[in-house]
Amino acid sequence: MQLKDLCTHCNCWTITNVEHDSSTAVFTCSHCDNKFELPWNSDTRFLIRSIRNSLKKRTKKYPELQQLKVAGDFVKLQPKPEQDKGCKDK
Ligand SMILES: [Zn+2]
Repeated sequence: MQLKDLCTHCNCWTITNVEHDSSTAVFTCSHCDNKFELPWNSDTRFLIRSIRNSLKKRTKKYPELQQLKVAGDFVKLQPKPEQDKGCKDK
């Protein structure tokens, strides 16, 4: 499966490939090829679900993330100041 995630190695938002067998999940950044492994368990499945859920909110805030479509794509986000001026936008 593929996830859009922030790669801590190249510091870009990239497509991360996730492959797992019954015991180990391997996450591979499709941009810089950085790999890390996690045990394939309910914590990891929860992590993947929460990455997916938070991506929706993040894509609203950073429409650039929509540019991530195929493996190898990457987006470097410019940090935006948190908007904290009243609650007009909510
Ligand atoms: Zn990377």
